[in-house]
Amino acid sequence: MLTFDNRFVRELPGDPLESNERRQVLGAAWSAVRPTAVAKPTLLAHAREVAELVGFGPSDHESQRFAEVFGGNALLTGMQPYAMCYGGHQFGNWAGQLGDGRAMSLGEVVNARGERWELQLKGAGPTPYSRTADGRAVLRSSIREFLCSEAMHHLGVPTTRALSVVTTGEPVLRDMFYDGNPQLEPGAVVCRVAPSFIRFGNFEIATARGDESLLRQLADFTIARDFPQIDAADPMRYARWFHEVCTRTATMIVHWMRVGFVHGVMNTDNMSVLGLTIDYGPYGFLDDFDPHWTPNTTDAGGRRYRYANQPAIAQWNLERFADALRPLFSDIEPLREGLGAYVERFNAEYRAMLAAKFGFPDFDAAHESLAQEGLAWLNEVEGDYTLFFRALSDWQGEIPTDDAAAVAALGDMFYAPTKRDAQTAAVAAWLRRWQAARFAPSVDVAATRAAMQRANPRFVPRNYLAQQAIDAATAGDASVLHALLDTLRRPYDAQPGREAFAAKRPDWARHKAGCSMLSCSS
Ligand code: AMP
Ligand code: MG
Repeated sequence: MLTFDNRFVRELPGDPLESNERRQVLGAAWSAVRPTAVAKPTLLAHAREVAELVGFGPSDHESQRFAEVFGGNALLTGMQPYAMCYGGHQFGNWAGQLGDGRAMSLGEVVNARGERWELQLKGAGPTPYSRTADGRAVLRSSIREFLCSEAMHHLGVPTTRALSVVTTGEPVLRDMFYDGNPQLEPGAVVCRVAPSFIRFGNFEIATARGDESLLRQLADFTIARDFPQIDAADPMRYARWFHEVCTRTATMIVHWMRVGFVHGVMNTDNMSVLGLTIDYGPYGFLDDFDPHWTPNTTDAGGRRYRYANQPAIAQWNLERFADALRPLFSDIEPLREGLGAYVERFNAEYRAMLAAKFGFPDFDAAHESLAQEGLAWLNEVEGDYTLFFRALSDWQGEIPTDDAAAVAALGDMFYAPTKRDAQTAAVAAWLRRWQAARFAPSVDVAATRAAMQRANPRFVPRNYLAQQAIDAATAGDASVLHALLDTLRRPYDAQPGREAFAAKRPDWARHKAGCSMLSCSS
């Protein structure tokens, strides 16, 4: 038995209409909806930690009822499904009302520890916010969201979680390459779990419509439910809250940079006020270190959401959030201050993060230039981001005096052997300087190595690995997905025998759809 306490729908105004007819929803934060039943809900995978978190027993997922509930064919007592109204800036432009077009929250569970976890289906059918689309999701994108949510959690990155992936037994029509060749693909429903799914866009839509009353209700609600450390009676509460959203966002982005994650669609409707990574679409992890890389083909032209641009885009998004909150402030100074806090927090944590990745005791000017030179040659030789830092973390003993031997000791992490060969002397010289900087005479070698291993994962859900799990699952074999998820539970451990999940991207995956490029079609 799960205990529901649905504060969002209880405390905030809802849409009086109850149909799925597409419409502009004014004066309301949500619309009541119902999942649309599917032909054959079948549980493909679940995360046992998340099941435990929301209060399920260890074998509850085995019942057909579990698949029916999380495939959208049944509701548990206490569930009150709703879709949220929000807007957003997409690729830099105001897009008006967006809303949960294929997501619907089932309700807020309060677990035995008193924690609040909202359950949300994605792909369970149309809502008033579906615009011209079908409210469904394909299996490939559902597996990717499920897998990455959990992988990010285990990597220590703030994120929404995922309880389950249920296949629907129904096909979904998608034009994966936007080239006029739509195909039928298997459909699925993911259940996502987070303390809150409120986004910057929830506030933006209220302000864009001049609805200050809704804006204030949303802000007061968010502070009361999701930021209990802020006193609801404090006259500075909105300032404190904005400051907190800014600093949490900075921390999240530093983690993304650390693990080589590229979100791909950092629109303001995909920014959580809790500073959680949310809405996994055409995301990716860096293979070769290319700061300009984006996994999203839809963004290939401007590369707005490329790896290196994420810190600046988060700041831009916070500025749009500040614009939305403006009516709550008589004086804009606290908004400026919050944006300043983002920059300050980001810079401090980014430096600490790089120091941790390289194993430097601090980050003085010499460390900083060594780090920059290291990343510059890594880019130049097309070296693998994850494998490079892991090789540094695992390094035992001295750097070989022979240049070729020193570079060879980095292992199989190069995508362009000719470029590597051209840089051998420079890379070996850099490694010697790195070793000297890392192992200052006073340093505890074993402790430094262990700390580096905690900053530098061995396993990340590379696109090609996710694609292999998808291909197998599509053919009816979920074992690859299960093995990959299991490996990603301990991304910082060596896990002997799991080498295949740590390997650099194979050549066949370089230009394969799903492995190097992804569209928003999902
Ligand atoms: P995203 O790019 O996934 O963040 O989605 C942007 C907007 O499009 C959100 O309002 C989504 O709910 C909506 N959307 C995306 N795909 C679908 C779909 N298949 N059916 C209905 N709405 C969708
Ligand atoms: Mg979205």
